[in-house]
Order: sequence, then C-alpha cells, then structure tokens
Amino acid sequence: MQACILRSPARIETNPLELAEVPKPLPTGKQVLVRVSACAVCRTDLHVIEGELAPRKSPITPGHQVVGIIEAAGEGAKLHPIGTRVGIAWLHSTDGACEYCRAKKENLCDHPTFTGYTVDGGYAEYALAEEDFVYPIPHGFADLHAAPLLCAGIIGFRSLRLSAIGRGGRLGLYGFGAAAHVAIQVARYWGAEVYACTRDERHQKLALELGAVWAGGTIAEPPHKLDSAIIFAPAGEIVPAALKALKKGGTLALGGIHMSEIPPLDYDLLYQERIVRSVANNTREDGHDFLRIAAEIPIQTEYEVFPLSEANRALNALKNDAIRGAAVLKVHG
Ligand SMILES: [Zn+2]
Ligand SMILES: [Zn+2]
Repeated sequence: MQACILRSPARIETNPLELAEVPKPLPTGKQVLVRVSACAVCRTDLHVIEGELAPRKSPITPGHQVVGIIEAAGEGAKLHPIGTRVGIAWLHSTDGACEYCRAKKENLCDHPTFTGYTVDGGYAEYALAEEDFVYPIPHGFADLHAAPLLCAGIIGFRSLRLSAIGRGGRLGLYGFGAAAHVAIQVARYWGAEVYACTRDERHQKLALELGAVWAGGTIAEPPHKLDSAIIFAPAGEIVPAALKALKKGGTLALGGIHMSEIPPLDYDLLYQERIVRSVANNTREDGHDFLRIAAEIPIQTEYEVFPLSEANRALNALKNDAIRGAAVLKVHG
C-alpha cells in the first residue's frame, strides 16, 4: 500500500514526508484494519514532523483523524462488523490499569499509545486501530466532513468542557483554525457568546461567518471581559493577553499539545482566582459525547482537500495559516 512516511524530523518547508510503498498491515488480536477514506491534518502532525514532540517511532506515518471502513479484523475483535465506517483518533490505546485509567481519566494514562506518533497513522491507504478505540461515524457526515471532527472536534470539545463555559457566558477563542471553527459551533449551540482573537484576517472573517460576535487580532482586547477562554494557537506569548481579557474567577484552557515558552506573568493577571489549565488528549467518553452532539447540531466543517501525495503541501499551508477550517487528505474515493 501507499503511505506517507517520515524518516526523521525536519522542518516542513523541506517536504520531509515521502510517499512510499509499504506492506499493508495485518490486524491481530483486537485490532481492526481500516481502509482509509480520509485523514484530516492536525497541528500535532506538524509538531511530530518538525520534532517538537520527541520522536517515538521511526519511520512513522502521521495522521490521527482517520475515517474509513473496517476491512478486516483480528481473531479477538468482535465489536464492529466488517464494513462499519469508523473514525480513528489520537488516543490509540491505554493500559486500562494505571491509577488514571481506573479513575476515568484515561486521557492521562501512564502507558498510552498515540495514532500517528507512537504507532503508524492515517496518512496511508490502510491503518490499524484497536476495536475499543474506534468511533462509529454518525450517518449525517460524509467522510471528508467527518475527519476533522476526530481531533480538532474532540479536543476542541474537551477544551470547551475544561474552560467551564456555560450558557450565556462569554468565551474567547485564541487562534481560529480547525479546532476553533468546530468549537465555536458547539459553544453557540450552548448559548455562549464567542470572541475570536486571531492574527489572520481570513480566520477573523470565518469566525464572524460562524457567529462570533467580535473578531480581532491575537492580543487585541475584546470589548467585554470573558468568562472563559481557550488558546488553540501554539504561542505562549498569548497567555498574558488572554488572562488580561478574563473576568475574575475565569478559566483559561490551553488546547495544544505543544506551546512555545510562556513569558513571565504578572501575578495580578492570575490573582482573583483565575485558572490556567492545559488540555491533554481526550477520553473516549469525550469522543462519543462530542460525536453525538456534533450530529445533533449538526456541525458544519469547512475543509480544503488534498490528495495523499500532497500531504507536505497541506502541512505547509497549515503552518502558514492558509487553510480555511481544516485540511483533509482524500485517500480512497
Ligand atoms: Zn492507564
Ligand atoms: Zn490532533
């Protein structure tokens, strides 16, 4: 089969992903083999490729927002019939036994594996997944629409939960890429007012189209104090600006897996019981809850399609803020 492989981390400008012919994987145990229809591109893929996340497998096939059809299953896999359309997300497996798993915090598992990072992902014609960790895709979503829901959507949803935004609350979104363009739709469904802070004017425009009441630059101060905010951009220098925009007792959630250094903070920005917390991975419950609500709304994803052979180009565009919504690789028709 064809797969994009990364032999060693390098800047995306050097087009380090190589389209190669590799053996089609064989499912064993509780694994399923998924024939990939679409795989959305995530900023985390960029962090894996550029080495901001320490390499864990080499070569590696990135991609953790995979939609496809189960074509085969290991001898122990019984949950989904062959032919089921499923999604594969970032959390590939957990040990199910550590203190975090036992406390229903499997997103913090001590021994997790991650799709497209510690095991091969979906920038390929086929991918393996554990049957317990795939998500049946609601019927209303076409493959290309569904792919960005699997990380941008699910992590955006967990970020919303951790930001403690409530009905009628004011929410700031910092960075307006794939995750924010889904999160805003959930936030509005919950009756929140959304303020978008993003450097790119096209992204500001998209935010307004999706119902933001205000859009401005990354460190521009929104016209009202915010109850909650989420930073999706990987830029630590946004943290003081976002804290400054928060009401007393407000929560700032950091939605990215990697962030540049946070500058020294004036304690006044944090005082008055403001909370800063990161968002790490997601539980399967987050995923199932999100897909249910996504179908209920229903979420409209904006995406730009690239063929598998142009994964490097898609990632370069993502790095340059040149994608409206999400970039999605179309693999099988
Ligand atoms: Zn665990
Ligand atoms: Zn992701």
